[in-house]
Amino acid sequence: MSSNNDAGVSLYPNLLQPLDLGFVSLRSRTIMGSMHTGLEESPNSAERMAEFFGLRARGGIGLIITGGIGTSTSSTLGPGGANMISEKDADHHRLTTERVHDEGGLIAAQLLHGGRQSFHNQLVAPSNIKSPIYPFSPHALTDEEVESEIESFVNAAALAQYGGFDGVEIMGSEGYLINQFLTQRANVRDDRWGGSYENRMRFPVEVIRRVRERCGPNFIIVYRLSMLDLVPDGSTWEEVVLLAKAIEKAGATIINTGIGWHEARIPTIATKVPRAAFTWVSAKMKGEIKIPICASNRINTPEIAEAVIADGDAGLVSMARPLLADPDFVLKARQGKRKEINICIACNQACLDHTFNGKLTSCLVNPRACHETELQYKPTASPKKIAVVGAGPAGLSFSIVAAERGHRVILFDSASRIGGQFNIAKTIPGKEEFHETIAYYEAMLIKYEVEVQLNTRVAVSDLADQGYDQIIMATGIQPRALAIEGADHEKVLGYLDVLQQHKPVGNRVAIIGAGGIGFDMAETLSHGKTHSSLDKMAFMKEWGIDSELQARGGVAGREAVVDKSDREIFLLQRKPSKVGGGLGKTTGWIHRSTMQKRGVQMLNGVEYFSIDDEGLHIKVNGEERVLAVDTVVICAGQESNRGLENELETSGLNIHWIGGASDARELDAKRAINQGAYLAASL
Ligand code: FAD
Ligand code: NAP
Ligand code: SF4
Repeated sequence: MSSNNDAGVSLYPNLLQPLDLGFVSLRSRTIMGSMHTGLEESPNSAERMAEFFGLRARGGIGLIITGGIGTSTSSTLGPGGANMISEKDADHHRLTTERVHDEGGLIAAQLLHGGRQSFHNQLVAPSNIKSPIYPFSPHALTDEEVESEIESFVNAAALAQYGGFDGVEIMGSEGYLINQFLTQRANVRDDRWGGSYENRMRFPVEVIRRVRERCGPNFIIVYRLSMLDLVPDGSTWEEVVLLAKAIEKAGATIINTGIGWHEARIPTIATKVPRAAFTWVSAKMKGEIKIPICASNRINTPEIAEAVIADGDAGLVSMARPLLADPDFVLKARQGKRKEINICIACNQACLDHTFNGKLTSCLVNPRACHETELQYKPTASPKKIAVVGAGPAGLSFSIVAAERGHRVILFDSASRIGGQFNIAKTIPGKEEFHETIAYYEAMLIKYEVEVQLNTRVAVSDLADQGYDQIIMATGIQPRALAIEGADHEKVLGYLDVLQQHKPVGNRVAIIGAGGIGFDMAETLSHGKTHSSLDKMAFMKEWGIDSELQARGGVAGREAVVDKSDREIFLLQRKPSKVGGGLGKTTGWIHRSTMQKRGVQMLNGVEYFSIDDEGLHIKVNGEERVLAVDTVVICAGQESNRGLENELETSGLNIHWIGGASDARELDAKRAINQGAYLAASL
């Protein structure tokens, strides 16, 4: 590699160093962690997976781990889930393994058995104990069936080897089958697979031992070990260490860190979780074994990853979602192009939320993720002059893709900086990551030479007769005004008054509207004197995690310590459904739980009447009430900002509306960015 391409090595010397595993060497200390994307089950899956993983291999990642692949008919996470039980299954992955190798990369298949954590009714588990978050009860495996499930792991590993994989990751964490064998929470057997810890860990140890025996010494075996179950009847730290030593002895090459069962009520990867929040657990394990340990969870920038390795917390880092956000993460770090890395903001909106809604995964900040074969940014054969009005997520996304393709793009915004509403979002405690997206766009506007004109409120006269081939209207939204008596009372504020203008808010507050912004408002107003959302120890305290690792599962008997809000806050919605029910599938519960702990009163089925000196007059469940509040903050959704529409219609200009300006209903940044990218790819 030329010195120019190695410009970042001095910045990240530990991260970008190869790792010699004896029989093979990883190009850097990076692993792309396993993610179930849905590509495995989609039409043309072989081609789509090859392109998805091939691009990540080209981007310099040390080792790719695929999404979980089932080992037996009962193992998949849902009906029709991908399996590795025949040569035909293995052959299906050849396009991927060959493509990854052509790009100089290495790839391991993650072998996973869901056990009781699956959405089908043929569940099996160590004991007949239902998971609290899955609908079906499992059948307790007989001794013979346990043996058969172990053999199915071994068979799947051999098939993976046959299919060209460089190794496998045996999924032993997140509460899946192997993890179920390990704890009394899911295993109350009294045979050789239950009872003592030695018996309970027999299943994973036998899997590793037999896979090594079958696949030989030159095959990577990663074991994903649940180091912190985050459920009260999970493993103790002593048991975790015992298991790690036995797994090492049985022949694993690398131990990867698993944090938290799916049923744990503690966030482990959401944006509220501080960066690298759990690497202290991997660090503690590092002294216990000799094979490399891989740290994981909320490692999303090269400097954070470098620090994890430089500080000696782990020998490798696993990053999953950051590789959705930017397939070239490692390559750009190596080239010293940190500002050009599209950083994962841990929102879960297009990845995990999609997975749990049965939709194909993508990424809010990178709509190409898992859509590589259909969304392509090819150089244009007919460069155009394009005006983009509005530098929010939609306009930015459009601008950088169009400019990358070779169009001349002139981007206007009336504000003094780019980013649109993301400039407000980034100020919400726990949403600091949104700074990264704006910084990324800033770098890409420079890279692709977009002409940016800030402090410029565009009128139709500015667009006419300027030789523009296309006009992209990305003017966003305006907050919805409230049509009730007293809406103009001095105690009424809009969310922009509070978050942007910083107008004073009283001690007793009613928030009208419990959508994303209503919750962000409640978060901001209740945050008060509580800790910085970036403080790792405060995070552990707030969620009752034992940083000394003396509690079983890391949580048994620990209280979550949360400061109540100094303000009395009511968060209101008209719908009779659960307050905040429309928030993200995998993150809504975190927001609701935090608000509950801070004492925010969440009311549904509310009818609003009027606002006066007394407060907010409402009816809830047929009962009239006056909320005696000092301030009412309106977070009642938004309407499209299409002020220029009538004039534009008669201007004869070639107009496209995107983002909030096209449709404000259920608008979020995911749609705004996606719409901008798809339009730019098509012009
Ligand atoms: P905007 O971001 O509104 O940008 C429009 C731009 O156009 C503005 O910069 C404006 O100055 C400019 N403009 C308007 N008229 C003119 C004109 N005539 N001339 C020049 N410039 C003009 N979404 C999520 O997906 N996840 C979240 O977690 C999230 N959190 C949020 C938190 C808060 C507090 C807020 C306020 C929003 C949040 N959103 C979130 C919503 C998200 O920010 C919006 O969906 C997104 O910004 C919409 O993008 P847009 O480009 O359509 O519009
Ligand atoms: P929203 O999610 O649509 O919520 C609007 C809220 O206002 C709802 O609670 C709605 O509930 C209420 N409402 C609507 N019309 C009303 C009216 N006429 N009078 C009184 N109440 C009314 O919109 P938002 O909170 O403004 O968020 C804007 C966008 O940003 C959303 O698409 C959201 O997804 C996105 N965002 C996402 C996040 C995130 O974490 N993912 C965070 C912030 C914002 P009722 O109709 O039941 O009263
Ligand atoms: Fe990260 Fe959000 Fe993209 Fe998921 S959707 S990869 S959390 S930025």
